Order: sequence, then C-alpha cells, then structure tokens
Amino acid sequence: MSASGNLFSLLDPAFENADRPFIIRPDGSTITYGNLREQTGRFANLLAAKGVKPGDRVAVQVEKSPEALALYLACVRAGAAFLPLNTGYTVSELEYFIGDARPSMIVCSPARHEALSTIGEREGCLSTETIDEHGEGSFLQAATAMPAEFETLSCSGDTLAAILYTSGTTGRSKGTMLTHDNLVSNALTLVDYWQFTSDDVLLHALPIFHTHGLFVATNVMLFARGTMLFLPKFDTEKIREALPNATAMMGVPTFYTRLLGEPWLDRAATAHMRLFISGSAPLLAETHRQWTERTGHRILERYGMTETNMITSNPYDGDRVPGSVGFALPDVAVRVTDPETGALLPADEIGMIEVKGPNVFKGYWQMPEKTHSEFREDGFFITGDLGTMDEDGRVTLVGRGKDLIISGGFNVYPKEIESAIDALEGVEESAVIGVPHPDFGEGVTAVVVRTAAAGTVEERHIVDQLREHLASFKLPKRVVFVPALPRNTMGKVLKGELRTQYRDLYRPGGAERPA
Ligand code: AMP
Repeated sequence: MSASGNLFSLLDPAFENADRPFIIRPDGSTITYGNLREQTGRFANLLAAKGVKPGDRVAVQVEKSPEALALYLACVRAGAAFLPLNTGYTVSELEYFIGDARPSMIVCSPARHEALSTIGEREGCLSTETIDEHGEGSFLQAATAMPAEFETLSCSGDTLAAILYTSGTTGRSKGTMLTHDNLVSNALTLVDYWQFTSDDVLLHALPIFHTHGLFVATNVMLFARGTMLFLPKFDTEKIREALPNATAMMGVPTFYTRLLGEPWLDRAATAHMRLFISGSAPLLAETHRQWTERTGHRILERYGMTETNMITSNPYDGDRVPGSVGFALPDVAVRVTDPETGALLPADEIGMIEVKGPNVFKGYWQMPEKTHSEFREDGFFITGDLGTMDEDGRVTLVGRGKDLIISGGFNVYPKEIESAIDALEGVEESAVIGVPHPDFGEGVTAVVVRTAAAGTVEERHIVDQLREHLASFKLPKRVVFVPALPRNTMGKVLKGELRTQYRDLYRPGGAERPA
C-alpha cells in the first residue's frame, strides 16, 4: 500500500479521538491517544534540546515500558533513527553497536548509565539518559519541563525511521536501515489483511526491541487506532487474566506451546478472542492442531524478517494451513530461485525465497558491499530462507540456507527430518544440524528433547523408525538427547550454538554409533 511522508503525520486520524485508550497497563491504568501525542511531543522536544538532529541515531537499551515505546515515536517525529537494542546485550557487546552506529543519544537502564556514558563520550555521543522498568529516569524527568507541542518533521518516506541490528550469531551484526515508507506500507497492509479495527484490543507480551513487538504489533495497532494490553513480558498467568479483555494476540511459537501446557486453556478462556497470530520462528504443525483442538481457534501463521517486515501470511478468511506460512502479502512480490544461479524455479521445488516491495529495507548501515551482495540485479532481496511455493502461491519454509546440511554430497533439509522425528512417540521436539564428518563432509545430527512422560525413547528407536520414512542419506548419524533446546528471546532455536557444541562429535575417537 502506498503512503509517503513521516509515519507520525500519517497517524493524525488516530489522534482525533484523544480519549481513546492506546495502552492499558497491567494495573488497569490507561495511556490515551491524547496522552501519547503529548508525551511524544515532550520527548521530541527534549531530543532536539539535547542536540539530536534529523538523521541522527538514538540508541536505546531499556526494559519494556510504554515510555520506551513513546521514545520510538518521538524519534520518528523528530526524524531521528530509533535504534533499539536487545536487553540481553552485555556492555562489551553494546560497545560494538555504539561504535558502529555512533548515536547522538543513548538511553539505557540506570544500572548501565556509568558504563555507557563513558563509551558514548568516546564515540562522540552528546548525552546518555536513563529510563527504568517503571518508565521513570533522567529522560522522563528532563522531558516534564518540555512543551507538549512539537511540529513533526516533514520528511520524505525514504527517510530512516529505525536501525535494527540483526541477531546474527556469526560474523558482525548488521544494522538494518528501515524507512518510514517501509514501516507504513507494511502496517497498512497488515491492518487490512488481518482486519484490525479500532475495536481491537491486542494482547502485547512481546519484547519491543525486535521487529515483531515493535513494528508488527505496535504500528498495526496505531494505524488501526486500537488498544494494547501491555504486559512487561510473557507470563502465562498474566495472559490468562488478560484474555477476557483482549480480541487478538501476536506471539512467537513458544507462547503457544507454553499456553498449551496450562490446564485452564480451553474454548471458554479464549472465547473473547478474534485472532491468534504466530511468527518469528516455525510453528510446529502439531502445535497448530493442538491449539485448534483446545480452543477452537486456528492460529494464523505469518513470515517475515527484520530486513523485510512481513512477507507472507496465511489468509484471514480461508485455509490457515499448519506448517505453511501462507501467501505473499498484497504489494509484496515473492519468488523461489536456485540459490546458486538465481534462476526462477518451478512450483514446489525447494529454493531460495526472494522478496521485493515497499516493505524491503534500504540497506545495511555502512555496509554497501554487504547490501549489494544480498540483492539481485532486479531489486529482489535474498532472504537466506529456503522454501517452496506451490501453483497457487502458497509458501512453505524448510529452514535457513545456512542450516542446510550437505551430507555425502546430498542436500538434507533439517525441517523434513525434524518433522519426522517430532511425530514419533516420546519426542517433545528436535533440532537437526550438520556437523563436520570425516566421510560425509557433514553428518546429519539430531538433538532431541524427550516428552516428560516417556523418558525411555532411545537413539536406536528413533533411527529405526525414521528408516521407514526417510532415505538413508537423510538419517541422523547420531541422536543426542537434551533437556531443552537453546532458544533466543524470539523463540528461535540457536542452531549455531548447537553446531559449536557438537562440532567434535564425529572426530576420530568421537563416540559415533552405527545408525
Ligand atoms: P528476524 O529478523 O529476527 O525477525 O528473523 C527472521 C527470520 O525468522 C526469517 O528469516 C526466518 O528464518 C524466521 N522466521 C520468521 N517467521 C517465521 C515463520 N513463520 N516460520 C519459520 N521461520 C520464520
């Protein structure tokens, strides 16, 4: 959908009814659209007073709070790029981001103030302020003295609104530059596609340093003029309390698996809900089915990434197919190509997912070569995700390209093996990785979590049962059992970590068993 200009100016209609609630806190207190307008005005005035100019970066590592969200919108109003940072980053990790982005202002938790102001000063940052988990701190104190009126910067839609560092576990983390147009186009598309209106109340339990909780959730609700029940973090009991007042939830798959572990989850508990959406990591088909059985709701799975915003979605009306991420969103072009040559592949063949549209980012911050190498000549962005598209345009992902296993010269797609293992009795979930193998190049290796009830399933059982369904080159050479898979805050399995952990499994002298 086309729209151009400052994202905040395009929200003007949302502020016509100043009394409408924008955020409801867990204690029941409300922040109205009128309050939001005033607060972002004070914040934007403070940014300007501290010397933050259009085009500057504001680096923010704070706990989730409505004030942190208002700071995002204040940056947008002032034409500065909002740069949120995962709250899990250590000071030495932050040193890299600050050195790379050279922000004019840093906003952090009080505990980090001393360390970050020292780093900031060295990197030419003008001031370091604080916001704590209650939304208080030096930034708020200084803002109270500022006027609430602020003239939102009039800018082109191509202006930077945010820089989000990718959570890459290998190599240098890259700063994804997102423009006002990128965010606005995707938000308008999603409001329409998922049929959000001002009657909606979104249960918001995601972090706000990531595209999912920050842009998908917040921008969609702003453009729909809806309300958010804002939880500081995911907590099953708090979700239970909030469900009767909500109409929709956006979550990562772990939200859904954890809620399925709650005996209270049933049709009555979710009766007020219109829509459950999942994304950021693969939702197991089994979770999808169990959720429908327990609640009567079919989870709507969508697919996107920091660089592209949302790319595909299952339909609102129509089939929400477990294991599929649905169709390209309106205005978004998706194709599947040969990863080596870039040639278009026929329907149903596994290849690289490529995407083009107003949702696709402007490039990586100060990495022109890296940016260039991730785009095709005709402007399609190479996502790094492998998948298929059927005749009707329905997309199914099979995993990240870098997770592809090449064993004995054959391609092994982890998702196929994981789905087969997950379907076996006694298995809770699994991750399949490739690790160095003296004969095969990479050895297919399954890391498996047993169900609590069935502690007895063994390596031999798993391999024997898989043999009935899978070609022998796809069979795991080893199956190792772990109590839980390592995941990041967005519920993504950290396969890089597993590859490091098991890299010596097939070394001479390693304990390989015949499979
Ligand atoms: P991020 O930039 O952190 O949002 O990560 C983006 C990546 O998450 C994508 O490139 C996919 O690999 C993965 N992802 C997002 N949504 C889904 C989904 N519905 N199913 C499987 N993987 C997903």
